[in-house]
Amino acid sequence: MNTVFGPVPSRRLGRSLGINNIPPKVCSYSCVYCQLGRAIEMSMVRRKFYDPRELIEETARRVRELRDKGEGLDYVTIVPNGEPTLDQDLGSLIAGLKELEVPVALITNSSLMCDPILREELHQLDWISLKIDSVDEATWRKIDRPHKNIDFKKMLNGMRTFAETFPGTLTTETMLVKGLNDGAAGVEGVADFLDLLEPAKSYISIPTRPPAEPWVEAPDEVSLAFAYREFSSRVAHVENLIGYEGNAFSFTGRPREDLLSITSVHPMRREVVEELLQKSKASLALLEELLQSGELVEVDFDEHRYYVRGFRR
Ligand code: SF4
Repeated sequence: MNTVFGPVPSRRLGRSLGINNIPPKVCSYSCVYCQLGRAIEMSMVRRKFYDPRELIEETARRVRELRDKGEGLDYVTIVPNGEPTLDQDLGSLIAGLKELEVPVALITNSSLMCDPILREELHQLDWISLKIDSVDEATWRKIDRPHKNIDFKKMLNGMRTFAETFPGTLTTETMLVKGLNDGAAGVEGVADFLDLLEPAKSYISIPTRPPAEPWVEAPDEVSLAFAYREFSSRVAHVENLIGYEGNAFSFTGRPREDLLSITSVHPMRREVVEELLQKSKASLALLEELLQSGELVEVDFDEHRYYVRGFRR
């Protein structure tokens, strides 16, 4: 197995070199939407996997190669196909990676955040993503199917304690699954919790790859737009991750591309769409065409009309 891979382009992290610090499919969750399938080795006990010195040496070699070629790197990211915090040597791995003078990021499912030793180790990071799919325990059990020994309340408290003191960039990720956590009460509950965490950015994602359970479906566009609005009312920056990695936020003057890439990140109000069309000297016919093809979907609420990226075509 390649323990160091990439660099891969990532909307969240730019050009990122990935590090597999544990073998695939070892996780404390068995999420219904997991793209790794059902065959997860469930564990919540931190243990030794690979030698951190070897991982650091391999990463250092790749970083040197990229520097020699004049290729930039935005992050090295600890993102195995499983839960990276299960690695008992994570603290020394992060410390060694920090010496390479590239920012270090990690994506976690948050399940072990009740552990103060782990929180201390994670404090060395420059960027972290914490998963929070639900603040209702029964719903969390249905979606994330956690290891039976994980204490939900202690986990949430651990996330709050960590967020209060983490010096790096804290982001969150919430996967919305139709019929499980995309209802108003569930979305508002997570939004209130995000308000306490005060993340730099919150990402809303939907299942876009084949999930572990075939019945898993993405929420509809109305639910997605509602979640975006609720999260935005509590968190400064919210983005959708719905499987389209467009050149978001940059106005290229090509109205079709601009509309599709911006709406893949957040819903656009009608008047903003009209302004964009006007600026690029395009007509409303383009909007009609995108609606007809299903690439955009119209959603009404709060007396406003929004356009979101259609993802069901
Ligand atoms: S936390 Fe991630 S790796 Fe673990 S089961 Fe869920 S989606 Fe899969």
